[in-house]
Amino acid sequence: MEGLTIEEWKRKYPLLPSLIKTDEVFWTNPGYDEIAKATLLVTPEEVQDAEERLRRFGSFIQLAFPETSAAGGLIESPLVPIKEMQKHLEARFASNIQGNLWLKCDSHLPIAGSIKARGGIYEVLAHAEELAQKHQMLQPDNDYAILATDTFRELFSRYSIAVGSTGNLGLSIGIISAKLGFQVTVHMSADAKAWKKELLRAKGVQVVEYASDYGKAVEEGRKQAEADPNCYFIDDENSKRLFLGYAVAAGRLKKQVEEQQITVDRDHPLFVYLPCGVGGGPGGVAYGLKLIYGDNVHCFFAEPTHSPCMLLGLMTGLHDKVSVQDFGIDNKTEADGLAVGRPSRFVGKTMENLLSGVYTVADEELYALLRALRDLESIRLEPSALAGMPGPVRLFQQEAGRHYLVKQGLTEKMKKATHIVWATGGSMVPESIQEEYYAKALDENGKK
Ligand SMILES: *Cc1c(COP(=O)(O)O)cnc(C)c1O
Repeated sequence: MEGLTIEEWKRKYPLLPSLIKTDEVFWTNPGYDEIAKATLLVTPEEVQDAEERLRRFGSFIQLAFPETSAAGGLIESPLVPIKEMQKHLEARFASNIQGNLWLKCDSHLPIAGSIKARGGIYEVLAHAEELAQKHQMLQPDNDYAILATDTFRELFSRYSIAVGSTGNLGLSIGIISAKLGFQVTVHMSADAKAWKKELLRAKGVQVVEYASDYGKAVEEGRKQAEADPNCYFIDDENSKRLFLGYAVAAGRLKKQVEEQQITVDRDHPLFVYLPCGVGGGPGGVAYGLKLIYGDNVHCFFAEPTHSPCMLLGLMTGLHDKVSVQDFGIDNKTEADGLAVGRPSRFVGKTMENLLSGVYTVADEELYALLRALRDLESIRLEPSALAGMPGPVRLFQQEAGRHYLVKQGLTEKMKKATHIVWATGGSMVPESIQEEYYAKALDENGKK
């Protein structure tokens, strides 16, 4: 950590003592700047190319996963208003949320039931396309439904795919890879839930379990993949392909925003709150949104109080050269999808001047919000997916949030703002486990 003592670090970054105590914090990014001044490390053309690739795969996806056929093989989720939840948040935190609150339900994405159905599936498809083209079996103007035939399954069965995951990425990669016919190995961290491992094994996926955290699972996966030239490793910490798959969400959201007749412009700012683990998912989505809405969209990441890796990486500028464990933070959280101790450098660098801020949320809060959302809106999420929810309240309640609004000249415009909380997972959680989650939260009267 660049030779400073913990005490010197604390003097340099006044927020650090609270972060180390695992208090909830709200950090706004001093490096945030107009998009015109930012260096774009991923081009709009690359995002466009990813979008077109997913469209080419539509006929295959539709055939392989009939639940997507109504949408023509598009893997997409609804955007819904959550008015009752907005009232609940206002009452719970005794604070007014100016503007309207919406939920983007990636929790209900087909195939994998989480945001990983974007990046994870995209990367496997891109790899499959590349292999098929290398073997001169596929042209861009072919109907990609042929990828569902035995000829292609035979081809892909000669190749393997590996990934390290806290659970949901493994689920998404495992399901799509097995469907195409690849041999696939998922290296799971200790946080990964048993039902995810069982589901994958039932689909013929090889699951390797580790007693340690996410970083170790990725490292082992990478090592084993390197030893095999026919193995393609999906690198959650550095993958541009994953990032692009997530970024495609932005153009799709724009359509939904228009359908709902929501205006986003200089006088109608858009605020988006995204749960963050290693950073790829929220980073890709936020980056895509910045490319479309520019300075009119304000993106915040949300992390568990025990795993604030992206906040630490951005605040210190050290990115992947620092981990939460370096500061004695244990990376132990019930939000398994966000249990990451070291952030992606690629994402940190890409978002350095485009991200508005990061805040942290305590596990108990995630459960309370999970319960409220189920009671009031009948929407069931997993704990990680609730991290975005307190964002709008924090923005108005925290001094740093209010200061951000003043600095951006937004104070008077907030009545016309739109807040989108990104719900990142939950629809595939088995019923019995959903009940456990629900039971963990206290209701308004303090009863279980
Ligand atoms: C993976 C995941 C995230 C965060 O994505 P990262 O790419 O790890 O930052 C958020 N929520 C859920 C439910 C996830 O599974």
